[in-house]
Amino acid sequence: MNEMSRPAAPQPRAEVLTIEAYKAGGSKIEGVNRIVKLSSNEGAFGPPKAAQEAYLKIAANLHRYPDGGSLELRQAIGARFGLDPERLVCGTGSDELIQHLCHIYAGPGTDILMSMHGFTMYQISGTYAGARVIQVPERNLTCDVDAMIAAVTPETRLVFIANPNNPTGSLLAQSEVERLRAGLPADILLVLDAAYAEYVTEADYDAGVKLVDAGENTIMLRTFSKVFGLGGMRVGWGYGPAAVIDALNRVRGVFNVNLAAQAAAVAALAEPGWVEASVAHNVQWRDWLMAALNTIGIKTWPSHGNFFLADFGTAERSAAANAYLMSRGLIVRAMNSYGLPQTLRITVGTEEECRMVAAALGDFVTHA
Ligand SMILES: *Cc1c(COP(=O)(O)O)cnc(C)c1O
Repeated sequence: MNEMSRPAAPQPRAEVLTIEAYKAGGSKIEGVNRIVKLSSNEGAFGPPKAAQEAYLKIAANLHRYPDGGSLELRQAIGARFGLDPERLVCGTGSDELIQHLCHIYAGPGTDILMSMHGFTMYQISGTYAGARVIQVPERNLTCDVDAMIAAVTPETRLVFIANPNNPTGSLLAQSEVERLRAGLPADILLVLDAAYAEYVTEADYDAGVKLVDAGENTIMLRTFSKVFGLGGMRVGWGYGPAAVIDALNRVRGVFNVNLAAQAAAVAALAEPGWVEASVAHNVQWRDWLMAALNTIGIKTWPSHGNFFLADFGTAERSAAANAYLMSRGLIVRAMNSYGLPQTLRITVGTEEECRMVAAALGDFVTHA
């Protein structure tokens, strides 16, 4: 090839430039001193004390590489959830595992299915892998199992379901998840992303273990970023069939979960009563805040996570509410990029933070 026919600069593959960079929840407002961040579904209580202590303690060892296989952490997860550590894999957040699953099982010429308002990382990672990511219509902001099954093509390789779903908060009953699995060809990997599993209080729910154990084609993903309050540490994990775990271990970052993150996660699992207290708080204050908004005429969507959608009817009203909350130092998440511009996603914070949101929206409705 002669010099003249080459581009003047390095060129990304075309699909990379079709990806919109992920917009994380905001954390700063110009000119406001006290910021309350309710935009990323981080746990209401901060990081567990034991995790903070483990993090500080590991500082003297930072010159050491971590255990690349996260063995102690996998053993701790296995003990906590009754799972075989050999069939667990840890990641730099579950985001890392999502990305690898797309590259391992999909790619150019293949399809990945997700529901219309599913988690954005599936769209980003699937497109990056070169696959076509199909967003299947939902019913009532809930994954429609029949529509998902109907959307399967000969090229479909992966189906992603977040259960509970972020950002809608909706839940698929276990019977529905089983119906979905039964309706998918055996060679399609079903990814059950249960980032909010601990928060679910519904009886007819399984985070994924049952379906993982029932076959060779379902993997469950979990994270330390939500109820365990370690989003900044970047630790997620997957439980899956031996062959899927084997494939992930071949391609994941060799030392993907760093030393401090492994120590903090092990300690977080051991913090007594942490999950129970977090879940009790979440149920109480999520329901309180939703009821408070309903009372002042703001519709809310039912949620099984530590967040919910407040529905303002129109994109304009929602944007005005968002601006008003910002002026009061309250950062929530606009949902324009999820195709739900009429809504704001609000993370359930502390009691004080919930009361601040209710008070601010009360003033917004009365005056703005
Ligand atoms: C927050 C979240 C994750 C993952 O997060 P990591 O911090 O990468 O572990 C995965 N899936 C959903 C649906 C989430 O909301």
